Amino acid sequence: MTIVGIDLGTTNSLAAHYLDGKPDVIPNALGDALTPSVVTVDESGEILVGRPAAERLSTHPQKTAAHFKRAMGTDRVFSLGEHDFRAEELSAMVLRALKEDAEAHLGEDISEAVISVPAYFNDTQRNATKAAGELAGLKVERLINEPTAAAIAYGLNQRDAESKFLVFDLGGGTFDVSILELFEGIMEVHASAGDTFLGGKDFAEILIDRFATETGLKLNRLSELERGRIWNLVEAAKLELSRSDLAEIVFSHKSNEFRWTVKREEFGRLAEPLLERMRTPVERALRDAEVRAAELDAILLVGGATRMPMVRALVARLFGQIPSGHIDPDKVVALGAAVQAALKSRDKALEDRVLTDVCPYTLGVETVVDLDGKRLLQGRFAPIIDRNTVVPVSRVETFSTMHKNQRQVQLEVYQGESRMVQNNIKLGTMLIDVPRGKAGEQFFDVRFTYDINGILEVEVTVNSTKEKKRLIIEGNAGVLSKDEINRRFKALEKLKLHPRDNLENRTILARAERIYEESLSDLRNHVSVMIDEFESVLQGQNPKKIAHARKNLSQLLDEVEAGWSEL
Ligand code: AMP
Repeated sequence: MTIVGIDLGTTNSLAAHYLDGKPDVIPNALGDALTPSVVTVDESGEILVGRPAAERLSTHPQKTAAHFKRAMGTDRVFSLGEHDFRAEELSAMVLRALKEDAEAHLGEDISEAVISVPAYFNDTQRNATKAAGELAGLKVERLINEPTAAAIAYGLNQRDAESKFLVFDLGGGTFDVSILELFEGIMEVHASAGDTFLGGKDFAEILIDRFATETGLKLNRLSELERGRIWNLVEAAKLELSRSDLAEIVFSHKSNEFRWTVKREEFGRLAEPLLERMRTPVERALRDAEVRAAELDAILLVGGATRMPMVRALVARLFGQIPSGHIDPDKVVALGAAVQAALKSRDKALEDRVLTDVCPYTLGVETVVDLDGKRLLQGRFAPIIDRNTVVPVSRVETFSTMHKNQRQVQLEVYQGESRMVQNNIKLGTMLIDVPRGKAGEQFFDVRFTYDINGILEVEVTVNSTKEKKRLIIEGNAGVLSKDEINRRFKALEKLKLHPRDNLENRTILARAERIYEESLSDLRNHVSVMIDEFESVLQGQNPKKIAHARKNLSQLLDEVEAGWSEL
């Protein structure tokens, strides 16, 4: 019986299996290797997972959830229409879709999987991942650390000698560096460091900003959907710049055309600050593992954004050696997990351990950002202890009052990775008395101390009075009990997952709806007619006619989107 390997990612997930001596990716119902880790509830209450759900992110944001991996092991609830789900449940739906795809592809029941997790995941997050597997009807006896899976995919576990590796993982929204050591057949993660707010997305953002400056386009005057359209154009240009020396971005808006040609070299210059930010986690991981760059036996590239030539060049510069990146960086973790799964079924699984104990989430407080002396941006999250910091740890940050004659400060403590506190989890509130004064005149230190048992102590000292106030926050539960898992399993079973065979139709309809919302007047009517026609063919239930109509619609939509970039 096949055990599959699964990379349950923040942006995308995928499954792989081992056949004829090598691992291979399992395509999903749409024939894609990557399934976006996105879940949506449609009008009829059915759950859709993957690309059709990702298409609905901009058109139905209230009913669609993404990036829930960041909330694994927390009590955060995602509301999708009238349903409330935890991160485990949403992950379970992704896993269930992958399981069904694997069953269809391999023609057998799949009931067991090896799932990869970030090396910095703590016990709570690991248990939550196992619970997600159980909720999806998968036995998960083993989890594998993502960097270890990458090392296995490269066959590094077969080395006889003691070796040291660095895994450089730049995904869509996160950057992780891990240092692995292979010693007497055991792979140990000696250190992991990273930046939760650094990924391929940031590289696209700098291109968007520059595009706006170069063309005089006012981004803040555009609708959400128009910004989504620019996002797609810029994302395509970013990928093009990994292949060629230049790319062109053309955006048409209200009969104006905004056009910019960007050279790879200029992109590299613009991205310099992002590249610079990658140095810190690299240096920290090396320091924590007490390893010198020259001692590394291999550097492995993981994550789609490491395809950018500038990132490869940076890695070569940092380590003085050419990194290994010949295995598809989007698939390498799933492939490694599949090898581990095959080894497991022969009782030869590689033992994989994590050595450091780290603080699993970013901890911080709510602040207000003063944009230009006039506008205040509320609800921003100011991190104090970064996720991934080795514990015990104590950090202090200084804040000031906001208003004239302010007498109290209400300090809200949060955990999470989002820039906005509303997406994070509130851990507690403190009220602190401060002497009256001018706005910004009173300063206070906020010290966070996080210990090995997951207890957070918040201590606030008002600088002028030296008065102190403390708050203790006990480690948060965030784990489901066995009974709770059973109860939720039953509830999830009742939910209708959209059948695989109709997924293509749903995906194309979701895409057509997005394009309808993004377009105006004549084009909009045109798309509307296309949707109506396709829906009427669907009602006819003739599979041949449906396939034909789907192909036509897909071509028409391609033409519409291609036309946008040529307009
Ligand atoms: P992952 O989360 O590992 O799937 O990484 C996805 C990120 O990689 C996204 O930000 C993509 O834009 C980026 N990416 C994928 N392929 C390329 C490429 N050829 N050039 C630049 N960035 C890429």
